[in-house]
Amino acid sequence: MITVHDKAALRSWISLCRQQGQRIGLAPTMGNLHAGHLRLLEKLRPHCDRIVCSIFVNPTQFAAHEDFGSYPRTLEADQIKLEQAGCDLVFAPSANVMYNGHTDQLTRVVVRNMENLLCGASRPGHFQGVATVVSKLFNLVQPDVACFGEKDFQQLSLLRQMTLDLDFPITIVSCPTEREADGLAMSSRNQYLSPEERQRAPMLYRTLQQMRDAILQGNRDYRMLETAATGLLDKSGFVTDYFSIADANTLQPAESTTSDLLVAVAARLGSTRLIDNLTLCNKKA
Ligand code: AMP
Repeated sequence: MITVHDKAALRSWISLCRQQGQRIGLAPTMGNLHAGHLRLLEKLRPHCDRIVCSIFVNPTQFAAHEDFGSYPRTLEADQIKLEQAGCDLVFAPSANVMYNGHTDQLTRVVVRNMENLLCGASRPGHFQGVATVVSKLFNLVQPDVACFGEKDFQQLSLLRQMTLDLDFPITIVSCPTEREADGLAMSSRNQYLSPEERQRAPMLYRTLQQMRDAILQGNRDYRMLETAATGLLDKSGFVTDYFSIADANTLQPAESTTSDLLVAVAARLGSTRLIDNLTLCNKKA
């Protein structure tokens, strides 16, 4: 496995792979890798000959008050994990390299129908930052296949839409959410939690499961279920940003006739913002 920090080195490695007729898979990450990230590589393996993992804490997807400065950066430990997981190349550029010396992003990619919903409502500009950096990674790496986690369901949906709309010749595969034994979705941000918050955090997934069970038992009053779930979380010390039962295809609020459902939540425990979701098919609707 090799690590490169500049675009020229990346491009020459990619063109060598291409000359040899190899298929390339890409897993974009912000590093501080856990088992969920390594699952992306496992998902990619059957689809490609070479795996590229990018590690880049992208400044343009963080608002000024968010955790860009304190986001954990652990390149050496990440390299060891990636080598063991069979990664071929790590692309770890600086912001200066990635944005050619200017982070004010003269050109931006906007996926208009999804960027202001759910997480986008409380993180203005976040998904523009994500779509722009992933477009750049797609142009640099030119992968045949790219993998994204279902934990960030809105990101996955938006990037699928972007890939379609901008005609990137790339297959998007998704990876189920990897969880801790108590159900908490793995996230680099979990380490911000105090021991007491960490004990409470699995309540997020339990609440999602409770609402799924209510839907499966025939409850179609989704707005009432959202309010109930928010109440449960707030009682447990969360500050709920949103609890949404949405159409999994459009991310718009679900109606009683919607068949593919997304149950998604974002909530703060102390200063840590956690997200999670699950999907279900409402066949009886
Ligand atoms: P991040 O480093 O948080 O930007 O995540 C990089 C990629 O890993 C994204 O596609 C995420 O959706 C995915 N990912 C993060 N956490 C998990 C998890 N617990 N299970 C599966 N995929 C994940």
